Amino acid sequence: MTTTLHSIATAPTAGVIKLTNCFLIKGDELAAEDLWISSRTGKILDGQDTFYGGQTLPDATVDLGGRIVSPGFIDVQLNGAFGFDFSVVPEDLEHYSQGVRRVGQGLIKTGVTSYLPTLTSQRSEVYHKTLRYLGPSGGARRAEDGSESLGAHCEGPFISPGKHGIHSRDVLLSAPRGFPDLVECYGKSNLGDAAPIRDNDDDPFAAPLPIKMITAAPEVGRIAAAIPEITSRNIIYSIGHSEATFEEATAAVEAGATMITHLFNAMRPLHHRNPGIFGVLGRKPEPASTNTTRPPYFGIIADGQHLHPTTVKIAYNAHPDGFILVTDATPLVGLPDGLYDATNGMRILKRGIAVTSEDSKTIAGSSITLIECATNFLNWTGSSLPQTIKTITLTPAKMLGLGNVKGTLESGADADLVVLRVVDAADGAVASTGIGEPDTSSSQDLGDKAPDTAGNGLGVPESQRQGRRKSESAIPGLGPTEEHRYTGRKIVLDQVWKFGRKVFDRADCKE
Ligand SMILES: [Zn+2]
Repeated sequence: MTTTLHSIATAPTAGVIKLTNCFLIKGDELAAEDLWISSRTGKILDGQDTFYGGQTLPDATVDLGGRIVSPGFIDVQLNGAFGFDFSVVPEDLEHYSQGVRRVGQGLIKTGVTSYLPTLTSQRSEVYHKTLRYLGPSGGARRAEDGSESLGAHCEGPFISPGKHGIHSRDVLLSAPRGFPDLVECYGKSNLGDAAPIRDNDDDPFAAPLPIKMITAAPEVGRIAAAIPEITSRNIIYSIGHSEATFEEATAAVEAGATMITHLFNAMRPLHHRNPGIFGVLGRKPEPASTNTTRPPYFGIIADGQHLHPTTVKIAYNAHPDGFILVTDATPLVGLPDGLYDATNGMRILKRGIAVTSEDSKTIAGSSITLIECATNFLNWTGSSLPQTIKTITLTPAKMLGLGNVKGTLESGADADLVVLRVVDAADGAVASTGIGEPDTSSSQDLGDKAPDTAGNGLGVPESQRQGRRKSESAIPGLGPTEEHRYTGRKIVLDQVWKFGRKVFDRADCKE
């Protein structure tokens, strides 16, 4: 029995909700614990404190039937979705604002509760017009707004002309003066002033800047010299679309780069005598050294098109704590196959999840969802479910400096949640991942045929569940056993909660 959005929304008292009969993803483990949340504050509560300390009874108890609760997913590279492209400026900017809102409301049904709207390389006026709509949007903490922007990701235009990918070469800039060129391109109000740290755990959205991350090639112009200026504004500097050598990439990391944009794609390939950008993942701070520079985080597109599954596995093994799955999704997510107009007069071709230039020669992003990327990762690497989920929750949150607010189920964090199951893809019980409005007539829909009565295949009796925390590998069906390693398991999304309110339930969509 589940509680509906309506009953939660009209809860008369403190709005305390207890999620029970569930497993929580905590670090690398699944914990058989209840989760207490507040629909009023939108935060995760300390269950011990709330129940035993405050003697509080929940206003609603939601039985999740043995399913798994994950923090909401975070996508740090999304160019658009549902036919809307962040990089295309309409005549009427009101339409732009509506389009951003539409993306947020569609995206949340895919489990992505926060994201970085990403602009590909554009002319200066595009940044000046659009960035005001793409900044952090969660200040009002309204669940009905859907997925929340954590700030814009400006991918380009200070990138290598030799590694431009689908970006138009005509708009690329070289930054001969360094940071002043970035100010001129993006706009002073979008870059802000140096110093005061704008994000903190207590109030992450205090006076937020519209830009959260900039992808630029460190070897272009004086970009390398601009890195400290960028990071002093609490903007992430990410290496990408770059010909950087190992030495240039290392210097960028020492100057403050903490991220690599879609590792391996649009960059100099690994060479055994010069490992290039990938080589910086091999950096480990010397124990005796005062230089505490860490290897950077890195984005990986696990769509089966951009990278070979083994490459994904190698990247993960090189630096598991830096590994972040991204979709690099194009506006074609959720649209039928065909030829579409893109930015700067180009046309792009969508065939299944593959999105390429019109001549099929250049990959132009993906049309995959983040949960589908996670399913690929789960099957390709043999990682456990918690390890898989970490790549789309806690790791991106930490990269953004929001590790106590997002991507975690610890008390005090935002109650952005995904309720999920893992099913055997071969048993016919799996379906679409919730893009757009689910097709209620389709035999693909999954709500009516769970893999077992426990809801997620765990098979752990209720009497043994509460208060126990156990290694996932000990739970049948979820451990990275040889038997399951390369067979098809699928992560299935059943519910999404935003700021403590349920905003999507697959079961409701079937009615
Ligand atoms: Zn790119």
